[in-house]
Amino acid sequence: MMKVLRRIKSLPVYECDSKNCNDTEITLEEFDSQPIYFKSVIRPMLAIGHEGELIIWLKNIGILQHSQRCNNVINNTECQGVMNWMPAKIIDQYQWRCKNCPKKRNIREHSVFQDVRCRFKDIIRILAGWCKGTDVEMLTKLLCIKKQAVNAVYNVAASVAHKYIETNLHRWKLGGPGFVVLIESYPEGFKEFNSQEYFQNHNIIPMLCIAEIKEIPTRFWLQVLDRYNPNIQEQVHNTNTIALHIIQEIVLPGSILVANLDSKICSFDVLQSLKHLYPVIVSKNGLKRHDHLNILLDNFETIWSPALHVCNEAQYYSNAHIQNFITNFLWRQKFENESFENLLHQMCYNFI
Ligand SMILES: [Zn+2]
Repeated sequence: MMKVLRRIKSLPVYECDSKNCNDTEITLEEFDSQPIYFKSVIRPMLAIGHEGELIIWLKNIGILQHSQRCNNVINNTECQGVMNWMPAKIIDQYQWRCKNCPKKRNIREHSVFQDVRCRFKDIIRILAGWCKGTDVEMLTKLLCIKKQAVNAVYNVAASVAHKYIETNLHRWKLGGPGFVVLIESYPEGFKEFNSQEYFQNHNIIPMLCIAEIKEIPTRFWLQVLDRYNPNIQEQVHNTNTIALHIIQEIVLPGSILVANLDSKICSFDVLQSLKHLYPVIVSKNGLKRHDHLNILLDNFETIWSPALHVCNEAQYYSNAHIQNFITNFLWRQKFENESFENLLHQMCYNFI
């Protein structure tokens, strides 16, 4: 117990003794100044001696449980006693204590942070980092904590975001009657404007890339596909079946689809089976014949550049984490500067 307390004391807010922490690109103070919501609502609660306020706030907004019943089993019967929220000399500063028996419960129980071990102060900053697309290594150094801790909170953030996206897919749909939607598969569709280094690795994870030509910035949908051998017909066929299914889920009917003529996945020919939903399907070459669309031809590289960057970056992630990385991109694309508050909001509805 004493050891834990000493650790809290020896970690002041804006400085850290570890020499690893001095070579970050930004200071903690700079990190805490964005987004505005974090700066105005969260930062005051991160000052020395205020961590308790942060924890109470997390309870009040519903990220931590509001109330708790005792689950102590006495003589084969669950106690079920009302529990009191009490200050405690532990890292969480509070715990639930039963009115009827000596049982105590952790305040993280039944919250999204049930399996996360680091301090709430760090958790909240890691969440803000996730919402800003901050690199795990950078955050590890900045907060002077274990990479494992950052990854654990990043996984929580990604799973909450993923669940929200899945159940609110309409908010991510692209296109609509008369709007142009580009369909490409990574890596094959990007050979002409991607550097060679990404194509020598046979373990590349393919992705379906969809771009909506409507507003600036361009909105995308990216989704990981299973690896397939381009020479095995059956594998190509299966991947196409999955990709076509994704397109129908994401792209609104009546959109004008633009596809490649010669790609294995989602080629112009393959897309013809969706003609009942998308009556106008154009090949890239075919764009030349459309006066109002041929301007796209000169802009493909610029349009795709943000998505291509994400696909390339994603290749550095393990299979288990690649989807989390894509989810992060989709979340930030949707909520932009309000990614953080929207994520917190969803966490209130995500008790296990
Ligand atoms: Zn009890």
